[in-house]
Amino acid sequence: MRLFSTDIDGTIYDGPESAGLFAKFWAEIRNGEAPPLLVYNTGRELEDARSLIAVTGLPEPDFLICGVGTVIFHSGDAATLENWREYLGQDWDYDIVWGTVLDHGKARPQPDECQNPHKCRWYWEDADTREIDDLVGRIEERGVRSQAIYSSNRDLDFLPVRANKGNAVAWLGTEVGVPTDEIVVAGDSGNDASMYEVDGVRGVLVSNAEPALIEAVRKVSPFQASLPCAAGVIEGLEHHLNRLDKDVGERRA
Ligand SMILES: [Mg+2]
Repeated sequence: MRLFSTDIDGTIYDGPESAGLFAKFWAEIRNGEAPPLLVYNTGRELEDARSLIAVTGLPEPDFLICGVGTVIFHSGDAATLENWREYLGQDWDYDIVWGTVLDHGKARPQPDECQNPHKCRWYWEDADTREIDDLVGRIEERGVRSQAIYSSNRDLDFLPVRANKGNAVAWLGTEVGVPTDEIVVAGDSGNDASMYEVDGVRGVLVSNAEPALIEAVRKVSPFQASLPCAAGVIEGLEHHLNRLDKDVGERRA
């Protein structure tokens, strides 16, 4: 494993205990030979994610992918990787998405700190997937190609078609020279599905993963942990680390 891309909430963090557990485990990994890159891949925005990391004592990541794959930061200096934004900006117009969803009238906008130029985020409890698809169609009629990502039966994100957690980590892997089969991903909810769909990656599903995520990634058979949150992530990483060592050993033999 040369890169670990993990969601935060519900995956490595659901309170002080899980944060401490993951921090301790990652400190050991970091002290090992050739430590992998740690990437947090979250729906939160930068300031929100950074303050959570500071408050909880989660280990500092090497890269921070925020806003459901819409922004990638080099974590040490919080510099945005601008090439990714340029790539996302094609066929996208935030104001058209905003206006179309507002006109439709069923979703409520989330606060400004939850928005970014490539992520338009709404509240919509118990939304019907056909109604969401219909909205994506209306946006397209106005010349913007978007995708809708629905999580936790409440949060509805409209993103450029190329933006999602999976595409972001695949792009980052290319940037830093890590092939996808040396990337491990972990998550717990609907917006994590795209990470598992990156060709070649190895996945971990925590035991508290939403049924919708388990169903969505069934075909790529990720490792299903028996434990929740950080404990499940550690269980999955130990599984993949053993498998990866074995695979590399077989390739060398
Ligand atoms: Mg989550």
